[in-house]
Amino acid sequence: MSEQKMYDIAVIGGGINGCGIARDAAGRGLSVLLAEQNDLSSGTSSASTKLIHGGLRYLEHFEFRLVRESLQEREVLMGMAPHIIHPLRFVLPHHKDLRPAWLIRLGMFLYDHLGKRTILPPSRQVSLKRTEVGSPLKPGFTKGFEYSDCRVDDARLVVVTAMDAAARGADIRVRTEMRSARREGDCWKVELLDRRTGKTQVVEAKVLVNAAGPWISEVIYQRFSMESALKTRLVRGSHIVVPRIFSHDRAYIFQNADLRIIFAIPYEEDFTLIGTTDVDYLGDPGAAAISKDEIQYLCEAASEYFSVPIRPGDVTWTFSGVRPLYGEAGTAAQEATRDYVLDFQGGVDSAKGGAEEPPLINVFGGKLTTYRRLAEEALKLLKGRIPGLGPAWTRGVPLPGGDFPADGMGGLVDGLASEFPALPPALIDRMAHAYGTRTRELLAGVENPEQMGHHFGTGLYEREVVYLIEHEWAASAADILWRRSKLGLRMSSEEVRGLDKWLKEHYPALTVPGDSADSANSVAIAASADSVAG
Ligand code: FAD
Repeated sequence: MSEQKMYDIAVIGGGINGCGIARDAAGRGLSVLLAEQNDLSSGTSSASTKLIHGGLRYLEHFEFRLVRESLQEREVLMGMAPHIIHPLRFVLPHHKDLRPAWLIRLGMFLYDHLGKRTILPPSRQVSLKRTEVGSPLKPGFTKGFEYSDCRVDDARLVVVTAMDAAARGADIRVRTEMRSARREGDCWKVELLDRRTGKTQVVEAKVLVNAAGPWISEVIYQRFSMESALKTRLVRGSHIVVPRIFSHDRAYIFQNADLRIIFAIPYEEDFTLIGTTDVDYLGDPGAAAISKDEIQYLCEAASEYFSVPIRPGDVTWTFSGVRPLYGEAGTAAQEATRDYVLDFQGGVDSAKGGAEEPPLINVFGGKLTTYRRLAEEALKLLKGRIPGLGPAWTRGVPLPGGDFPADGMGGLVDGLASEFPALPPALIDRMAHAYGTRTRELLAGVENPEQMGHHFGTGLYEREVVYLIEHEWAASAADILWRRSKLGLRMSSEEVRGLDKWLKEHYPALTVPGDSADSANSVAIAASADSVAG
């Protein structure tokens, strides 16, 4: 075990909230360490509905603060990452037995006006009779409402945030587990385990941030050996992915008889994403998986609207995530607040004669959409407590690859296609939507397809794999196929095995011995990709 340097802030957890706080803090001149036990975004942050949204349904729970902040953030985030965040229109069919039209109109009005909206168009009523958006639905649905939100590549949002944090000096360590942390004198002693080498190290930090998502309580009780009056409620949400149900580019939001809503969203060109569920969850967050009942529920809820029923046998892929919500079980899971709570502990310790205890911030709840604001609020709590803390700066500062105008995606794709004419347009298009302007760095010097190196299948070449390892902390086939991209949806199990083998041969030091999470993922990859291919 070796002892090393003192950081201003140590952040536990490489999900969206941990990475957001690390980026903000590093940009304010603080020295930052972030420890993530698995891959970046391997927790809840890659298992979301993939929306940057105000959350229309939260209005019913009177969550006006949360909805306003989220609505304001939509266009801010779109401007920061226009390669991975795109506007999306949603169609809400009116169901004669559910919410009355006047209530929906009122909700839409509030949604249009609660937050700032300059790019996204307002809501409107739409006819579903003999129209493109009405055609996939049962004939009984004749009118609906349309409004705007944004879609996001959630896992890539986390990675580009971490990349920017690292570019500003943060020490980002993946496959690094925080084993324990204790206050000693004026700092935290944090014990880290490098899961690749098996070596432990103790680092010191003036401030500790617990952004462990659904592991938050486990970290408080077991890793810090502390108590907390605040409770986390773990709620599992699952999605199914089916072959594309409709050909237009809008998404649906369906109301269900149980008063919940589900989305049906065009996904990865050839698929439709349907979700989510809300089920109280007590198990290991890392082992969350969809149940048969959830699959049945989602199929039935969507089939209430689509004229061609969705069956469990249509399901190509599923994923489940666990929301670390603030509060205790008791009400219906969908009613628990999605707002975030920052639990600040520290300040004056009377037992030690008034000395200042090194601060701890526990992050409860939150949404992808509010991560930037959450980070600002977390750092505000440290004002006057940590020397050298600069002012807030992240609003409007582009994330890696996102330094082009919010409406400039088409121009970027065209520009890249003319700069790299030897490469297939579909490959350029995919890369532009993943890496934005960084595609130039990834493809620098490529004048013919041979220079892309070994082809693993479905347009994944050695050049991209090496870029992901060298610049984006990718280490396994699952990292590359399910988080840095969604190529796993299309690859056959043989192609996945080929990538796995190549990684182990060329980058043996990246492998974590006995990494059950990744081997379990590989099985899921093989199973789902084969069913798509078939
Ligand atoms: P996580 O992403 O879970 O990150 C925590 C990380 O901490 C994990 O990677 C974990 O490995 C790591 N960790 C834990 N313990 C340790 C340790 N001891 N040492 C080192 N690392 C550790 N929000 C939206 O804005 N839009 C949506 O459309 C949306 N849809 C959602 C749908 C579902 C089904 C769910 C579940 C959530 C959704 N959310 C959405 C909410 C959003 O996804 C979460 O609020 C957010 O991802 C939480 O991020 P996090 O960083 O707090 O947690």
